[in-house]
Amino acid sequence: EEVRSLNFIEHIVEEDLRNGYSRESLRFRFPPEPNGYLHIGHASSICLNFGLGQRYNAPVNLRFDDTNPAKEEKEYVDAIKDDVSWLGYEWDTECYASDYFQQLYNWAVELIKQGKAYVDSQSSEAIASQKGTPTEAGTESPFRNRSVEENLELFEGMKNGEFAEGAHVLRAKINMASTNMLMRDPVMYRILHKPHHRTNTDWCIYPMYDWTHGESDYIEQVSHSLCTLEFLPHRELYDWFLDQLVDSKKLRPKQREFARRNLSHTVVSKRKLLQLVESGVVNGWDDPRMPTISGLRRRGYTPESIRNFADTIGIAKRENVVDVSLLEFHVREHLNKIAPRVMAVLNPLKLVITNYEKGKEEWLDAENNPEDESAGNRKVPFSRELYIEQEDFKEEANRKFFRLKLGGEVRLKNGYIIKAESCTKDEDGNVIEVQCTFDPKSRSGSGTDESLRKVKGTLHWVSIPHAVTAEVRLYDRLFNDATPDGHKNKDFMDFINPDSLQKITGYVEPSLKEAKPGDQFQFQRLGYFNVDKDSVEGHLVFNRTVTLRDTWAK
Ligand code: ATP
Ligand code: MG
Ligand code: MG
Repeated sequence: EEVRSLNFIEHIVEEDLRNGYSRESLRFRFPPEPNGYLHIGHASSICLNFGLGQRYNAPVNLRFDDTNPAKEEKEYVDAIKDDVSWLGYEWDTECYASDYFQQLYNWAVELIKQGKAYVDSQSSEAIASQKGTPTEAGTESPFRNRSVEENLELFEGMKNGEFAEGAHVLRAKINMASTNMLMRDPVMYRILHKPHHRTNTDWCIYPMYDWTHGESDYIEQVSHSLCTLEFLPHRELYDWFLDQLVDSKKLRPKQREFARRNLSHTVVSKRKLLQLVESGVVNGWDDPRMPTISGLRRRGYTPESIRNFADTIGIAKRENVVDVSLLEFHVREHLNKIAPRVMAVLNPLKLVITNYEKGKEEWLDAENNPEDESAGNRKVPFSRELYIEQEDFKEEANRKFFRLKLGGEVRLKNGYIIKAESCTKDEDGNVIEVQCTFDPKSRSGSGTDESLRKVKGTLHWVSIPHAVTAEVRLYDRLFNDATPDGHKNKDFMDFINPDSLQKITGYVEPSLKEAKPGDQFQFQRLGYFNVDKDSVEGHLVFNRTVTLRDTWAK
């Protein structure tokens, strides 16, 4: 059932179906270059392409655009596959542009034979200087009219490793006066004496993006090749290359463009993210502060929350910046449904219940998730000495302070109503202990009048003798600016927030002792947290995924 209207890409597909495309001919691809980890911007492209696959029951290929061995690595290929799978999508075929190197070479030879490509032996600087300007035609290369025989011989020599890097390039012979600069005899191949992560040293000439992409789409018979807006001017070249080769019996792919998605308070560019990793600003690609899929996963984001975010922002024709709070909204919404509630204290203040028997312990019933009946209950230990949050106690406060103050009452979540009688301070006047009394008839769920008695505030707590110590990592935005890479005279690195990570020691209820990396919880009144991969037996490490927007009691 349709829950939203069609996006403009879906309208294009619908129109193609009306104009004679068969449903069976639909095929899509997600084409990352394995030169870094996927980020939240890629998630939009993944959800778009795989979403189309689901809507039209059409195959979607995962295509690695691996034509630049200088920047690409197997580690990135593996990470990309993990991330796409984790997001919940299954590709039809795993493809590599590098698998088409021979075919692309053969086609390039064809173009040379047709007089549509030539070997240029000028330096890249000389070639660039002849490009002209958008309003002025470029200058033709002195090598533009080389004979087919000479071109074939030189191109073969390039392929066989007879020349140094930069000695020659192969260029398409199109139009040096085109109003589209990309049509001014674009480079198709360059010499690179670098081993490739898949073809090793088989090749020392590598095809350029424009030459590779459309032909790869054609080989895979991709019907709609969706890319971001900066490729709009490339479409003419994409079509030109196809025009030289397309067999009329086969499907001709079409490129269509949509806007790149940017997220506030971060950067979504693999190159810039690599800079953060290499400079040590973050601890790797999956640092929980990174906008990478792996960083978000480690931070505690769920695939559902990312997919819902991508669906909500949809596909646009114009670039814009989406506020990161929308992403946070979606993870909060999902974790609210699935994360068990537990109690943890992050800034402890000791509370002693003077009329509670020394040495006694009680195991109280606690509901795991009020949003999910099937989540059941657990037992939480209660005793005479507890931790509460420092900020939940004030000696004196006005009537709007519903937490604990001297002479005031609050309910301890899942436990009793207590009254603060006195407190102890250190030399500097900081409260270091609160002495309370409790009402034994007020236990939560006991059904007595006292337990039904209304008190305004409810506090979370942990029993000191039962508490488990944990390292808790609190994250703030990585950048102090909403658009760190949007400033003319400043580098995005100038906006790094030096306080984006704070490590503290917290105290958690003992049910968390066996928690495993990836497990997710709501620390009541504090936020959503998950167990980090750095966690080992005897040393729990939690990440704060996101704070709670609303606390259930203030
Ligand atoms: P980066 O600058 O981060 O390397 P890219 O576009 O070069 O980005 P690719 O690996 O080529 O990265 O991207 C794979 C696909 O994802 C492409 O179709 C690309 O257009 C799309 N994509 C990349 N970044 C975004 C983004 N921010 N929003 C939407 N789609 C994106
Ligand atoms: Mg790219
Ligand atoms: Mg890139």
